[in-house]
Amino acid sequence: MSQKLIIANWKMNPQTQKEADKIFSGILLSVKNIKNTSVVVCPPSLFIGNLKKNNKILIGAQNVSGFSDGAYTGEISAKMLKDKNITYSIVGHSESRASGDSNELINKKINLLLKNKLNIVLCIGEKERDHNGFYLSFIKKQLHECLAGISKSQIKNIVIAYEPIWAIGVDALREADVSEFIEMSIFIKKIIGDMYDVKTAHDIGILYGGSVHPENAESFLIEGRASGLLVGRDSLNAKKFSKILICADKIK
Ligand code: PEP
Repeated sequence: MSQKLIIANWKMNPQTQKEADKIFSGILLSVKNIKNTSVVVCPPSLFIGNLKKNNKILIGAQNVSGFSDGAYTGEISAKMLKDKNITYSIVGHSESRASGDSNELINKKINLLLKNKLNIVLCIGEKERDHNGFYLSFIKKQLHECLAGISKSQIKNIVIAYEPIWAIGVDALREADVSEFIEMSIFIKKIIGDMYDVKTAHDIGILYGGSVHPENAESFLIEGRASGLLVGRDSLNAKKFSKILICADKIK
């Protein structure tokens, strides 16, 4: 990945279309001068399609159904996302996993998204770091099971977002250290290399997510060599999110 990929995950926020439009317009103002960065905003699904059309910000979904169509109350299919010109979908976010998404279901979602030619942001991350390194086998299992049967050519449409659960949201213990992110990136690339090949491991994009703020974005992107960032809380504040975008855009 040459361009940095910065993704806003708005989760179940804000509460009105008016507020969503306001945040989106704020972000839109700052992306006017952004040249080297791909910007994706993932709003709640009700706002998808209502945000101001433009050619600078891509719209993403926060999740997708594991079924193609039919009697699945409340779900949104990959084909519906495609029909609304959605280009990315997050899958496997820890909050979706907490409400029941297993690795197996995430694998089904990935297959449906690929079938509908959408790009995928696959979130992985451990609940805690133990001294025996069991968290590494947990990450390995997530990758093996979520990517089961996905071919070398299909994986080009997938980026991995490493989001340690202990670093996410208002209850975060702390953000990850850049060194922890680097260690995990190397580990993820090793797994991908074993599953596919060295080139695929080299090329795969790895994002960092978990308490990203304008103050720490640069260190993950420069020292940590992250391919991009997945931003929760600070993506709801147009000023803070814009600072993150400007910082990413300066990096060659
Ligand atoms: C997230 O949940 O994807 C996330 C990164 O949240 P936050 O930035 O608020 O920790």
